[in-house]
Amino acid sequence: MLLEHLNRLRLERQAQGLARQRRIAESPCAPRQAFSREGEAALSLLGFGSNDYLGLANHPALVAALAEGARRFGAGSGASHLISGHSRAHAALEDDLAAWLAPCIPQAQALYFGTGFMANLALLTALGGASAAIFADKLNHASLVDGALLARAPLQRYAHGNLTVLARQLQGCTAPVKLIVTDAVFSMDGDVADLPALLALAERFDAWLIVDDAHGFGVLGEGGRGALGHFGLSSERLVYMGTLGKAAGVGGAFVAAHPAIIDALVQSARAYLYTTAAAPALAHALRESLRLIASSEGDARRAHLQQRIRQLRAGLAALIAAHPALGWLVTPSSTAIQPLIVGSNEAALALMAALDRQGLWVPAIRPPTVPLGTARLRITLSAAHSAGDVAQLLAGLGQAARDMTGTRT
Ligand SMILES: *Cc1c(COP(=O)(O)O)cnc(C)c1O
Repeated sequence: MLLEHLNRLRLERQAQGLARQRRIAESPCAPRQAFSREGEAALSLLGFGSNDYLGLANHPALVAALAEGARRFGAGSGASHLISGHSRAHAALEDDLAAWLAPCIPQAQALYFGTGFMANLALLTALGGASAAIFADKLNHASLVDGALLARAPLQRYAHGNLTVLARQLQGCTAPVKLIVTDAVFSMDGDVADLPALLALAERFDAWLIVDDAHGFGVLGEGGRGALGHFGLSSERLVYMGTLGKAAGVGGAFVAAHPAIIDALVQSARAYLYTTAAAPALAHALRESLRLIASSEGDARRAHLQQRIRQLRAGLAALIAAHPALGWLVTPSSTAIQPLIVGSNEAALALMAALDRQGLWVPAIRPPTVPLGTARLRITLSAAHSAGDVAQLLAGLGQAARDMTGTRT
């Protein structure tokens, strides 16, 4: 019975172009990376799908720091943070992160988590108790959506970036604790939330502003301080979640906030209490990652990434102008996330396959991850991409566009 049911779901998914498949990475994360699929030989592909925005995931200094961390602190933590798993390496990283965010959040303390998904579940369930109300952007990341659903607080979602609707919702709310929740950089569109306006609303309606900066931390702002630094914001109302597996190149996440918020998480967040602390070596490597992000090397990597973003956007605009019949669209993104919206699931899969045949690997993103009819290639750029890499992607897209429209080459 169960197997028949699952098989029916699988066939439906396939018919709708929604079946998903994993590839196996046979070499470290890098623009040129070897992948294989079950039963196939490994293939080197030029990829535009990782979130390794600064190209640190295989940086020799981080690999060395990880190895040194393992020698000093062992392979595993052995327990949750509140039992015996909270290592000196975790504590030192939290101090570094708190100091890092101090210009943006007065008295900030930081708490390290094994993943960003868990950090968001912990945050929203610990703060979103029965006396709270949650207000969330419709395009927020799945982990924020699930955290809000798991919290006992009533949830209101506002249309993407629509602060008029949000103001109306806040106005009509009598809950003593109000939580505004937003991605800083929206993960499938690449646009940046209007954090100054959101913070102004939080102040006006006595709310907290929870900012998920998974795609801004290390990339945006001076020294890579992230979205808060980018806007020059500073407030006790800010609750900041940054992930450490993307630009920081390692893994994990953290919340930085007023000490009372951090204490509430340590005391009551089930997703923090009832899980084994991540390997201390990861925290040790992340301290090195923070140093790199803040260094002149980090500045150079961010500057190079900005050049690749401008190069890609100019190329995509020219391509779209040359092939209006395809109906391709870009989003108003100035970040490393540069989606090419093609519409149907079939069109997205066909374009992904056309690129794949040219040795290019760009993931197609389909509903329910994005709204129906806005299937897209989610192109992400990294400081590890060269100008030649981006030119190769643009040439591949141009070839696919000509093939699809029957234009002669
Ligand atoms: C990736 C991501 C997360 C989850 O972080 P992980 O550390 O990968 O679990 C949370 N929020 C957003 C916006 C993300 O893009």
